[in-house]
Amino acid sequence: MEHDNTNTPHPAEGTCSCEHPENDQQYTGLQVNAGIEQPPIVNPYLKRRRRPQLTVSDYVEGIRKGNTAVLGQAVTLVESLNPEHQMVAQEVIEKCLPFTGSSQRIGITGVPGAGKSTSIDVFGIHVLNRGGKLAVLAIDLSSERSKGSILGDKTRMEKLAVHPRAFIRPSPSAGSLGGVARKTRETIVLCEAAGYDNIFVETVGVGQSEIAVHSMVDFFLLIQLAGTGDELQGIKRGIMEMADGIVINKADGDNIERANLAASQFRNALHLFPLPPSGWSPEVTTYSGYYELNIEGVWDMIDRYFAHVRANGYFDERRRQQEKYWMQETINEQLKARFYSNAGVQRMLELKQQMVLDNRLSSFVAAHDVLNFYYENCMNN
Ligand code: GDP
Repeated sequence: MEHDNTNTPHPAEGTCSCEHPENDQQYTGLQVNAGIEQPPIVNPYLKRRRRPQLTVSDYVEGIRKGNTAVLGQAVTLVESLNPEHQMVAQEVIEKCLPFTGSSQRIGITGVPGAGKSTSIDVFGIHVLNRGGKLAVLAIDLSSERSKGSILGDKTRMEKLAVHPRAFIRPSPSAGSLGGVARKTRETIVLCEAAGYDNIFVETVGVGQSEIAVHSMVDFFLLIQLAGTGDELQGIKRGIMEMADGIVINKADGDNIERANLAASQFRNALHLFPLPPSGWSPEVTTYSGYYELNIEGVWDMIDRYFAHVRANGYFDERRRQQEKYWMQETINEQLKARFYSNAGVQRMLELKQQMVLDNRLSSFVAAHDVLNFYYENCMNN
């Protein structure tokens, strides 16, 4: 086939200096040519090949068969802020509920650097060697700020990440503590329906998130370090009160003695607390996640706890109380969302807040005014 070039000017006769700037007399050699247009990073044709939408029963069936791809998609649906996704997610959760409740849920907390990921990797393999499946979830409020979850990250748990019976999911990233925690709570439901009989929920022991984790697990493990000065100063009393077990990590090399000392300090401190409703006195032990020392000791403690609370009925009682807590939390969350998303309330809030700031109205009266506005104008829509 002959090429038609009748309309194409020959470079030699070219007058168009914009196309070949070097031909321009003004050209200094320091100019930068305009580059060529780059193709889009995402191939536009891929858009047409979207993953087919799954129905509620596809999700439930996939989850029940233990299909991790479907489970992952269902968790994404739970985490989605899209109301349509939320509706499907809630239906999937409801259909999964009858297949849940049989797992052991363990919360794991500790300050950054305490060795949570190293330990979870080792604890996880220990648990999996006994059989069953393990899901590792996380509640990480810092993720919203850092735009990425630092907990439950696969790269931090090398052995579990490639284990066929482990499912690792980082923290949901958007929303308030209540919202993030609820999504994790719902993810537990999906994981249990998929046959995960061991659930770890990881959190950073520096804030409010422990309370949320405590309200969704059967056993709460606090990882501590020795030799960081005054051992008991660094953590809040509230976190210690919630712990069912305290483990001192990095008890290896010349740190063993300090770890033992820290353990006895924690034991003494725990003696001052009243016996918790479980009837189980929280225990303290040392171990090394990195060198895999006394992992059996840690797990022996956890096994004894479960035997104790299953025998005295506290296991079921704690779960019942947690259900009540989540019901109240859901009501609180939905009421707040409805209140704050109302345009009239938003205008009223702004107005009254300014009056409070200007010292023209007391905070108490201002709050009542806004609430009354809501009761009178918005309750029925
Ligand atoms: P996280 O921030 O709580 O998840 O802590 P990491 O698991 O990332 O551990 C923090 C650092 O402590 C890493 O450099 C680990 O290698 C180290 N580490 C974790 N466990 C141990 C341990 O048992 N012994 C020693 N010596 N170092 C450890």
